[in-house]
Amino acid sequence: MKKPLTVGVDIGGSKINVGLVDHNGRILAAHKTNFIASKKPDEIIADIQTGVNMCLNNAGEEAEALGIGVAAQVDRKGVVLGSQNLGWKNVPLKKKLEKQFGLPVAVTNDVNAATLGEWRFGSGKGVDDLAVLFVGTGVGGGVITGGKLLAGCTNSGGELGHITIVCEGRKCHCPNRGCLEAYVGGWAIAERAQEAVRTSPKDGQRLVSLAGSVEKVTAATVSQAYREGDLLAQRLVEETGHYLVAGVVSIVNAFNPCVLVLGGGVIEGIPELIQIVKESVQRRALEAAVEGLKIVKTALGGDAGVIGAAALAQDLLKQAS
Ligand SMILES: [Zn+2]
Repeated sequence: MKKPLTVGVDIGGSKINVGLVDHNGRILAAHKTNFIASKKPDEIIADIQTGVNMCLNNAGEEAEALGIGVAAQVDRKGVVLGSQNLGWKNVPLKKKLEKQFGLPVAVTNDVNAATLGEWRFGSGKGVDDLAVLFVGTGVGGGVITGGKLLAGCTNSGGELGHITIVCEGRKCHCPNRGCLEAYVGGWAIAERAQEAVRTSPKDGQRLVSLAGSVEKVTAATVSQAYREGDLLAQRLVEETGHYLVAGVVSIVNAFNPCVLVLGGGVIEGIPELIQIVKESVQRRALEAAVEGLKIVKTALGGDAGVIGAAALAQDLLKQAS
């Protein structure tokens, strides 16, 4: 009998990725939509519909369930409680999509979906204790412990980007100060770089000339200048590594994963961070916590969210059968 295909959808702050995925985590057809401003739920649903139609038509196949990962807090019933990125509050996304598509739908947080993708088909395949840390514009994570995704009391567990690494440190986008994200998230690297340039304009000349102005210096500018051997960029990368290590040591000590997967735009842009983390975490985490620990890069990259969301839909079908 032919194994069912499912559709995975990854809704970020500015893009919707849709993929038709088989039971081996292989993407058979994909569609990507970018949008600039925040969109109303019904507009996003219309975009998802377009993406799904394109994928099914291109592959000449049918899908039996839909999985969604959305950059938001999602409860166990598939209600989006809130999303800073999308400006949503209390949106019953699962219900709306089930009505629209007439298919079973599973909805989760985008990072949890990506964690599931890496666990089933990526760098964490076959591992029951896994931590995944995505360092992009924001910093998100997911934890698999004893073969289960850590959900927590209100389904918001595994927010690894918001562990405190500096008491009373830099202001985060959450209510706290000194979070890991407030130092190593793309937005935070940009802020730190701009401050460094303002403090030492001479040292920051290369960053400014690459970006066009101080305000335009981003994490990508830092990565580019770092490649060219710029000294200030080098210092910023070293500091970023230092903060990332602090976060990873806490994660490793708290969850004792067998594998820690690092991914996201910042890691893709500055892959040297993986080596920095590997060396220092080995020295600084509890001995028992690093015994047998592997620190690796994501295998699925930007597709982890779509593949993980589709896997969630596969689980839904298995539960129903
Ligand atoms: Zn925070």
